[in-house]
Amino acid sequence: MTDSIRISFEFFPPKTPDGREKLYKTRAALQAFNPEFFSVTYGAGGTTRETTADIVTNLRRDGISIAPHLSFGGDNEETILGLLNQYKNAGVNRIVALRGDMPSGMGAVAQLVYANELVAFIRRHTGDHFHLEVAAYPEIHPEAESYDADIGYLKGKFDAGADSALTQYFYNPDAYFYFIDQCQKAGIDKPIYPGIMPITNYTNLARFSRNCGAEIPRWLRQRMESYRDPEDVKKLGLEVVTDLCETLLEGGAPGLHFYTMNQVEPSAAILTSLAISQQL
Ligand code: FAD
Repeated sequence: MTDSIRISFEFFPPKTPDGREKLYKTRAALQAFNPEFFSVTYGAGGTTRETTADIVTNLRRDGISIAPHLSFGGDNEETILGLLNQYKNAGVNRIVALRGDMPSGMGAVAQLVYANELVAFIRRHTGDHFHLEVAAYPEIHPEAESYDADIGYLKGKFDAGADSALTQYFYNPDAYFYFIDQCQKAGIDKPIYPGIMPITNYTNLARFSRNCGAEIPRWLRQRMESYRDPEDVKKLGLEVVTDLCETLLEGGAPGLHFYTMNQVEPSAAILTSLAISQQL
C-alpha cells in the first residue's frame, strides 16, 4: 500500500437542516484522510437538483474539492446546462456523470438519457473543464443485456470523454479483478476505482443490494442473518470490508471510493485499520 492511492467519499443530500449540519461535520472529520474529493449524489430523476447544488456550492466556498453527481433525469438540456454553468462558476472541476434511475413508483415516465450521452453533452459544452467520473459495475448492471454489452457501454462512456470510473459496491474481490481484466481486454485503459460500502446495518444493506444488483456472498449473509446484536454485525462488517480493501489494494486497485451514508465512523474505522492515515 502506498501514499499515492486515491481516496474519495460519497454523501447523499440530507433533507433537514440537522442532517446538513451533520454532513458538514462528517466532511470535516473525513478530511483527516486527505481525500482527493468528496461527492454528493443526485436524487433519482433530479429530485434533489437544488439541494445537491446547494450543498456542493456551499462546500466549494470552503475550498473543498467536491464533485456533484448529475443525470438528465427528466430535465431538458437547458436545465443541465444551467447546472453545469453554476458548478463551473463555483470552481467545481469534477462531475460524476450518470444515467440515473427514475424515482421509485414513477416507472418509466420518460426516456432516461444514457450516461455516455451526458458525458458527450458535458464535453461539448464545457470542453475539458471537468474531470468526469462515470459508474461501473463489476457484478454487471441489473438491466444490462449481457456482461460484454455492459463493458462495451462502459467503453462508450470513456470514448465519449470520461476520465475515470467509480464502481458499484461488491464484496467479492474476484468480481472486481475479473472485471478489470475484461475491461482492459476491451481496450479500456482508464482507472476504475472500487466503491466500498461499509456494513453497519445488515437489513438495510440486504434490501438495497437486491435493488442495485450487488451480491452479498452466501457465507456472509448466513453469518449476518444469525446475529441478534447489531454490534456483532458492525464487528464482522469492519473485519470483512477491511480485508476486502486490503485485497483490492494489494491486487492493484488505484484507490477506494467510500459510500459513507453521511457517517464518519464506518469509513474511518476501515481506513484506520488499513493504516492509510495516522491522523484520527
Ligand atoms: P448507463 O451507463 O447509461 O447504463 C445504464 C444501463 O443501460 C446499463 O444496463 C447499460 O448496460 C445500458 N446501456 C448503457 N448505454 C447504453 C446504450 N447507449 N444503449 C443501450 N443500452 C445502454 N443514481 C442516482 O440516481 N443518483 C446518483 O447520484 C447515483 N450515483 C451513483 C454513483 C455510483 C458510483 C454508482 C455505481 C451508481 C450511482 N447511481 C446513482 C446509480 C445509477 O444511476 C444506476 O445504476 C443507473 O441505473 C445506471 O446509471 P449509469 O450511469 O451506470 O447508466
